[in-house]
Amino acid sequence: MSETNPLSNVVVVLHRPKDVVNIAGVIRVMMNMGLSRLRLVKPDEFDMRRIDGVAHRSRGIVEGTEFYQDLPAAVSDALYVVGTSGRARSAERNTARPRAIAPAVIERARQGLVAIVFGREDKGLPTAALDLCHQVVGIPTDPDFHSLNLAQACLVVCYELLLAVGDPEQKEPPASGKHCRETPPATQEDLEQMYGALESGLGRIDFFEPREAAAVMRTFRTLLGRAEPSLREAKLVEAIGHRIGNYLDRLEQAPDNDVGFAADHQNQGEP
Ligand code: SAH
Repeated sequence: MSETNPLSNVVVVLHRPKDVVNIAGVIRVMMNMGLSRLRLVKPDEFDMRRIDGVAHRSRGIVEGTEFYQDLPAAVSDALYVVGTSGRARSAERNTARPRAIAPAVIERARQGLVAIVFGREDKGLPTAALDLCHQVVGIPTDPDFHSLNLAQACLVVCYELLLAVGDPEQKEPPASGKHCRETPPATQEDLEQMYGALESGLGRIDFFEPREAAAVMRTFRTLLGRAEPSLREAKLVEAIGHRIGNYLDRLEQAPDNDVGFAADHQNQGEP
């Protein structure tokens, strides 16, 4: 992996873009900055001729563009998902400037697919989309004008990625120590399975009462997303959720409430 250009592992994902001129602008930016992979989630329109008018010689990217029905599918194979938002920062999310995260993004792109997700022109990324992201990026702006044009926001982020590839000073591995791991990193799909199992297991023990499940899960997403679990680690957390469910199932089924604690303990080494 180390010989390939990490930018070839960076996928730009546009969530429900409205205007084909902005898609074309993003493609042009991608060409300028050395990126080549574009994914579109339900664009309002996609007219190749109009794209070529704005982004000349863009056929390679246009023809390779992949279309998705929803964002989870578009990022499911990514090891790391970065969302972008022009909205005022929310305290409960990992929000950072593009320059701060670029070296870490490039480092992950040396290992596998990284998705950079941009929102719709009039609405930005919905909360559920930001929930899928390991990291949210905000480009600093004048406080009265947070919102950049889609392609211009894409330019700032991709420019920082290009610089991070070129600067050997910035190729230091991130502090998480993930290079020592023995198992591959979890993909977004693996993480969604983990969150799903955790939410359903915790729900069954009324863990969320009286809190709001979505808010608690968002905090878990921020916490676990920051840890960037390996596949094995994600499966371990997922197993907590399954195990709670299995335990309660047995409890409900056992006539005398003998739920087989001993058997439960014997399996603890998994996964
Ligand atoms: N009114 C929308 C603006 C969307 S602009 C909103 O409330 O978010 C379209 C997209 O451009 C955004 O979803 C985001 O992906 C990107 N973008 C715009 N301004 C940005 C900024 N300051 N920082 C990071 N991304 C930005």
